[in-house]
Amino acid sequence: MTNKKGQVIVITGPSGVGKGTILKNVMEADKSLCFSVSATTRAARPGEVDGVDYYFVTRERFDEMVKDGELLEYAEYSGNCYGTPRKPLEKLLNEGYDVILDIEIQGARNVMKTFPEAIFTFIMPPSFETLEKRLLKRGTETPEKMALRLETAKRELECFKEFQYIIVNDKLEDAVEDFKAVIRAGRCRCSEYIKNKRGI
Ligand code: 5GP
Repeated sequence: MTNKKGQVIVITGPSGVGKGTILKNVMEADKSLCFSVSATTRAARPGEVDGVDYYFVTRERFDEMVKDGELLEYAEYSGNCYGTPRKPLEKLLNEGYDVILDIEIQGARNVMKTFPEAIFTFIMPPSFETLEKRLLKRGTETPEKMALRLETAKRELECFKEFQYIIVNDKLEDAVEDFKAVIRAGRCRCSEYIKNKRGI
């Protein structure tokens, strides 16, 4: 247990842009990072584990979480609900971990209100066509859901200016290094130094 309070790191960007893969690589290399496991009403994809990738919940349970103030932020995305559980996040931050939130844009905007000092990173595809190809290749969506995600992605891409850092995910290794650098720079901010009550 340390006196240091962790920082919130938000990674956002359109579905299929590779946020999860970048995160996985960065987290493997930096064990002081934790992942905020979201609650979702979406069905689990093959290989996804409840409590690790997401908390898979019913719509009723999700609505209850909203009503009871259990979520720091939540949003509806492509017909499903997603939200960040508040308590586990606060616990990890108090334990000194830096916590990564992989969330869509509306949620990121809400986190800007509650954690204005968080680090906000937008992951950008090299082109819209590349994003389309990546989503198709992933093959996790029905054609209707896929069309909806692409339509949403177009709108999301227009919002990049709201974020502090933009990382273009062209070559994965470069994007991973860029994200590590952003986190490292975040830790060196004057506000972090002051927050952790370090003086001269
Ligand atoms: P997917 O269904 O592909 O796992 O996620 C769809 C979108 O929901 C992604 O952009 C992902 O970042 C976002 N998302 C995941 N968890 C949360 C959350 O807790 N809150 C919000 N607002 N978005 C989330």
